[in-house]
Amino acid sequence: MYIDKHGDAWYKCSLHNHTTFSDGKRTPAELVEIHRAADYDVLAVSDHWLTWPGELTGDALPPDTYNCDDRPEFIAAALAERPDRPKQIGLLNAVELDCGGIDTRSGVYHILGLGTCGRTDWSKYHGKAAQDLIDIVRKHKGLAFLAHPAWSLNTPEMINSLRHLSGAEIYNTFSDVGFNARGDSSLLLDIVATHGNLLPFIATDDTHFLLGEEVTSFTWIKSKSTCRKDLLDALARGDFYASQGPRMAISRQAGSFRVECDPVSEIIFYTNRPFSFERRHYGTDITEHTYTPHEHDKYLRVEIRGADGKRAWSSPIKV
Ligand SMILES: [Zn+2]
Ligand SMILES: [Zn+2]
Repeated sequence: MYIDKHGDAWYKCSLHNHTTFSDGKRTPAELVEIHRAADYDVLAVSDHWLTWPGELTGDALPPDTYNCDDRPEFIAAALAERPDRPKQIGLLNAVELDCGGIDTRSGVYHILGLGTCGRTDWSKYHGKAAQDLIDIVRKHKGLAFLAHPAWSLNTPEMINSLRHLSGAEIYNTFSDVGFNARGDSSLLLDIVATHGNLLPFIATDDTHFLLGEEVTSFTWIKSKSTCRKDLLDALARGDFYASQGPRMAISRQAGSFRVECDPVSEIIFYTNRPFSFERRHYGTDITEHTYTPHEHDKYLRVEIRGADGKRAWSSPIKV
């Protein structure tokens, strides 16, 4: 967590993770401990077709503490019992639903549902279309995000046909590392934005503990607290940005956009224009730059890259 110059808190959130309850290689308890040790504030456990049963301590949680707003506090209390666990972590119910099988020509979509409520047998929704899965997540009081669209070979037309998405993964670590090599969806989502669909961006690890993808990419969320309601309100407002470490803030000043950030080697301003002589600003330990939109710019998004290769991505902003 960090506090910005306006006094607002930004929480370090890992929003897409799998455990031994689906195809991950670590238990929920191990997932929590690894993220707590890496200074995360919020963890969403998003097993495939399954909301995590909550066996943090090895004991099943009582049914009335499972799956609703009181669960993070219960878990936090459990975590606080041990003196060697100094930091609490907020937990967010989540699930990953998918359709389309293994041939992308038939339309593969993976939908990340964040903050869902209620004990749900998700398996009864197998075979539903992508829009149905989004609507089902929302019916369970969650927010739906499009997971790894580049990995799924989603086309801009496929993405633009979907309604009521709260955002999309601009970067998914697991889809990039090891044998995967298709984790960066920025080009695809730039085309989507060029068509006027300004989906906000999250970054995730899609942790499975298979390829060293864990604790790499995350989302900074500006929220009043780490409880479910405040996090979902912030996600619905778009008060977040994707990162692998670097922090940034964008402010509008008399028609220009000013970026302030941690010291990085590149600040890049992506818009709908092909030609731009001001797209990349680079150097050593840059901490600010101002971009004045061209008359044909319709949207702007900012990407910063540190000397260590770590990046952060703003959501697209209407110019
Ligand atoms: Zn997936
Ligand atoms: Zn996943």
